Amino acid sequence: MSNADFIRGLADIGAWGVSFHDDDLMTFGAPESQRRAELDAFKKVLDETGVVCSMATTNLFWHPVFKDGAFTSNDRNVRRYAIQKTLRNIDVAAELGAPTYVLWGGREGVESAASKNPADALSRYKEALDFLCGYVNDKKYEIRFALEPKPNEPRGDTFLPTIGHAMAFINELEFPDMVGLNPEVAHETMAGLSFFQGVAQALWQGKLYHIDLNDQKIGRFDQDLRFGSEGIKDDFMLVRLLENSDYNGPKHFDARPYRNEWGNGIWDFARGCMRTYLALAAKAREFDQDPRVKEALSAASVPELAESTVGSYSTATADRLLNEQFDVAALAARGYANEALDQLVIDRILGIS
Ligand code: CA
Ligand code: MG
Repeated sequence: MSNADFIRGLADIGAWGVSFHDDDLMTFGAPESQRRAELDAFKKVLDETGVVCSMATTNLFWHPVFKDGAFTSNDRNVRRYAIQKTLRNIDVAAELGAPTYVLWGGREGVESAASKNPADALSRYKEALDFLCGYVNDKKYEIRFALEPKPNEPRGDTFLPTIGHAMAFINELEFPDMVGLNPEVAHETMAGLSFFQGVAQALWQGKLYHIDLNDQKIGRFDQDLRFGSEGIKDDFMLVRLLENSDYNGPKHFDARPYRNEWGNGIWDFARGCMRTYLALAAKAREFDQDPRVKEALSAASVPELAESTVGSYSTATADRLLNEQFDVAALAARGYANEALDQLVIDRILGIS
């Protein structure tokens, strides 16, 4: 099937947008005239179908030139080539109106810890990001960057392995407001972390620019399973979090059909991702409207966590706190009724009352 067939198929099942790697769209190493024709064909089918180009990214991992890294290769010319390849595709992203440019550093890492000074690698990573932001500003493009953390695979240890590492790194950049995150369910789950908690913190820090939805069994290779096919409870909480947040970016499925799937099965897979997301969003609304849930949240003191604890510091508030008497035994003796609350989560997912 051609790219055009895929886009028409996605439009038929109700997809809103598509994303691309430079090499998906335009043949790697082909003459400029051929690449232009391939890009024009893509634009034509977007126009015909009304499908939006919601995100673009560079393939800096497939070609063997990147085997030691792209922005963090020890070879300076490989690093310069990686930045050039990215700049060229940023021009394409701007032409297609993609507001988000994702950077997954698939090859940015090591097998041998002796093979790179990590501080140098992070400095080169920062240098690349600062340069890309400078380019976007210079060209006056409306584009923001989203880093996609991943702990390992294909490298043994990847730089910026988790949401937390990436958010801390962004604070060191020259244009931190232009760089956020594209966290992926599978990647955070591979690291044994809760994707829900990571996304919640990214939202709290204003850094959720894009999201890769798929699914994953813990402790496995990057599976990219159909969204909602494995970690259904975490997925329910994730969808509830997104739907109740001010996140208005794409719900982007970075997933693939089962490896033995064929023919029409790929559309079952694509429909399934969207169907489950929408079903969980409906369930999340039901959950939040259920009076028993409101009662259970209150019994667990969930709303109380939104209340300020001590307020801003002043000598007077500190003196008052220091003189306050707490009934520690009574505080220790209280319950939080989490079992009842969590059972309501399960009841809602299972559709029982
Ligand atoms: Ca993945
Ligand atoms: Mg991804």
